[in-house]
Amino acid sequence: MFHDVNDNVMQKTVVIGRAGEQPFTIDVPGVSNRHARLIVEDDIWTIEDLNSTNGTFVQMADGSFVRVGSKRISPTTRVRLGDATALGGITFSARKVLGLEDNYRDEFAQIEKTYDQMQQQLQKIRGQQRRRRLLIAVVPLVLMMVSIPMQGMAGMWFMRGSLGVTSVLSLLLLNGDKERKLMEQNKKLLVCPRCGRPLSEYDIKSHSHVCGAKG
Ligand SMILES: [Zn+2]
Repeated sequence: MFHDVNDNVMQKTVVIGRAGEQPFTIDVPGVSNRHARLIVEDDIWTIEDLNSTNGTFVQMADGSFVRVGSKRISPTTRVRLGDATALGGITFSARKVLGLEDNYRDEFAQIEKTYDQMQQQLQKIRGQQRRRRLLIAVVPLVLMMVSIPMQGMAGMWFMRGSLGVTSVLSLLLLNGDKERKLMEQNKKLLVCPRCGRPLSEYDIKSHSHVCGAKG
């Protein structure tokens, strides 16, 4: 948490933009001169859009950015000014506005946690898929064995029915989408909070990501 060096009542307002008061330069055409305002009052952080042309966005827990007018945030919340695509925007963590950039330790710890949770979920999904594949392999075998002592047409129709059941089971149970969706969801979260590049497992686990390095 931020503490005023003078130990005064903590109240700070910083206008952010191309002509803003923030301690870093913003030289992006998609950002307005006076784009947004960060208000910090007794550890309550609020970001306010100043009727900017391209909007102020705040990152949600699921990694997506949502356009805001005025929103309470935390020091580590990622704020984006302007569009991510068209004229370009800039993304930074809120505390950078108060010159508290530091080494992003909290963010990287959170990313590692997110990554570990994703791995656990992946394991679960893969285990479930393995069990389902086994079931799909075993069910027709059992049905076939049941049909062996049956006589004539009855046995044949039973076999056909079994094939149908197996096909339907496969369609219902082997849904590979889950894994893909999980990866998709997490892709947005597993990016460097400083430079926005995607982080590999090695980056996350070895804490060796080098910002801005070409991937
Ligand atoms: Zn980086």
